[in-house]
Amino acid sequence: MVVFLVTLTSLIVYSNILIASYDKNSYETRLSIIREYGVTIANNLSVLGVINKDTITDFESEIKYFSNMYDGRTLVIDKNLRVLFDTFGLEKDKTLISEDAIASLGGRESIYRNKIKNYVELILPINNQNDKSVIGMLVFSFSLKAPSSIGEKLSYTAVTILVIIAAIALIIAFIYAFGISKAINKLSLEIDKITDGNIDEISSVYGYTELENISLSFNKMLSKAKKLEGSRQEFVSNVSHELKTPMTSMKVLADALLSQPDASIEMYKEFMIDINNEIERENIIINDLLSLVKFEKKAESINIKTTDLNELLEQILKRLRPIAVKNHVELVFESFRAVSAEVDEVKLSSAISNLIENAIKYNKEDGWVRVSLNADHKFFFVKIVDSGIGIPAEFQDQIFERFYRVDKARSRGTGGTGLGLSITKSVVMMHHGEIRLYSKENDGTTFTIRIPLSYIPPKKYKDKKKGGGLKLVRL
Ligand code: ADP
Repeated sequence: MVVFLVTLTSLIVYSNILIASYDKNSYETRLSIIREYGVTIANNLSVLGVINKDTITDFESEIKYFSNMYDGRTLVIDKNLRVLFDTFGLEKDKTLISEDAIASLGGRESIYRNKIKNYVELILPINNQNDKSVIGMLVFSFSLKAPSSIGEKLSYTAVTILVIIAAIALIIAFIYAFGISKAINKLSLEIDKITDGNIDEISSVYGYTELENISLSFNKMLSKAKKLEGSRQEFVSNVSHELKTPMTSMKVLADALLSQPDASIEMYKEFMIDINNEIERENIIINDLLSLVKFEKKAESINIKTTDLNELLEQILKRLRPIAVKNHVELVFESFRAVSAEVDEVKLSSAISNLIENAIKYNKEDGWVRVSLNADHKFFFVKIVDSGIGIPAEFQDQIFERFYRVDKARSRGTGGTGLGLSITKSVVMMHHGEIRLYSKENDGTTFTIRIPLSYIPPKKYKDKKKGGGLKLVRL
C-alpha cells in the first residue's frame, strides 16, 4: 500500500506540474502572437490620424479575418469610447465603459485573463502618429479553448498513463509484499520447528538478502548455542569425574584397610597419608572450581585498586621460588620500568601465579623461567618465558578450556587440575586484556598478558566495543 500510494501521489503531482507548465507556455505563446498582430493593426490604424466609421472601413475585412483565425472578437473604439466596429456586430454604436478601456485612453495597454470562462481580453491603444495622442483603441477577446483542449487531451493522456502506472505499481507492490511475507512466515515456521526440537538448522530463505542474512545469523547463533550446551555438559561430566577420582582412591584405600582387621599401625599411617593426599587434591579441585565460578561471575566481584605491579610480581615470585628451587628451575624477574595499574590485585596475582607455576611445573631439569614486566602509555605487559617441554601446536587451542591437560599423567603428578589456564583467561578478560601464547614442542613456552593501565568498567567497555566481547589471541 505504501509503495502504491507513494507512486500514485508522485505521479499525480508530476502530471499536474506538467499540465500546468504546458498551459502557461501555450497561453504565453498565443498571447504574444495575438498581441503582435494586434499591434500591427493598431499601427496601421494610427496612420489614419483620426478614427471614425469611414476611416476604418478598409481594415474591417482584415480585422474580421484575424478575429476568426483566433476564435475571437475584435472591437474598434474611438477616443469617446464609442464602438465603431464589432466583429460580432452586437455592440456597435454603444459606448464602452470599463476601467481597462478608460485606462487605455491614457495610452496604457491592458490584459485581463478570465480563467473560469477561459478567455483573454487585450486592450491596445491606437495613437496618433504625430502627436502620440490616443485616437482610439482595439479590444481583442479571444478564447483559450484551443490550447486548453490540447491541455485537456494532455490531462487525459496523463490520467491514462497514471492509472496504468499505478496499476503496475499496485501489482508489483502486491507481488513483492506477498513474496516477502511468505518468506518471513517460512522463516518463523522454521524457527518454531527448532523451538519444538524438530530440526537442527533452519533452511536458508532465498531471494531476499536481509532474510538470507537473518537465517545465516540464526544458524550461527544456533551452532554457538549447541557448542555452549555441549561444553556445559562436558564441564559437568568433567567436574563429576574429577571430583570422583580422589573419592574412589579414598574408598579403595579405606576398603583395603577395613578388609584387614589385623593391619599394623604403620600400614594405617601409610594409608592415612595417601587418604590425606587425596583429600588435599579434592580440596584443590574444589578451590579451583570455586575461583573459576567466582571469576566468571565477572565484574560484580571485581575489586579494582591502583597497584604497584613490580611489588606484586616480586611477591608472587617470592612465594613461588621454593617450588622453583625444588624443581631445579631458575626463576628470574626482569622489570623495565616502575608500573602501577588499576587492577584486582588478588585475581591478577592468582592469574600470573598460575602461569609461572605452569612454567616451573612443565619445565626440564635445570631449566629456567623468565618473568618480565613492561608498559607503554596505555597497557602493561607481563611476559613469562620458560625453557620447558612446550605445548604441541595441535593442543594450543584447547589448553584454555576447563580441565584440559596435554599430558594427563604428568599434570596429575604435578598436582594439576586443568583449571589454572581457564582461571587465568577469565581474569585477563575481566580486565579487558589479552593473553597470547607462543610455544613449540620441546622448545619452551611464552605467555604474554597485555592489560590496560586504567580499568574500563564493563558498560563503557561494551559501548566502546559496540557490544563485542574479548578475544583470546593465540600466536
Ligand atoms: P594444570 O592444572 O594441568 O596445569 P592448566 O589449565 O594450568 O592446568 O594448564 C593446562 C595444560 O596446559 C597443562 O596440563 C599442560 O599440559 C599445558 N601447559 C600449561 N602451561 C604450560 C607450559 N608453560 N609449558 C608446557 N605446557 C603447559
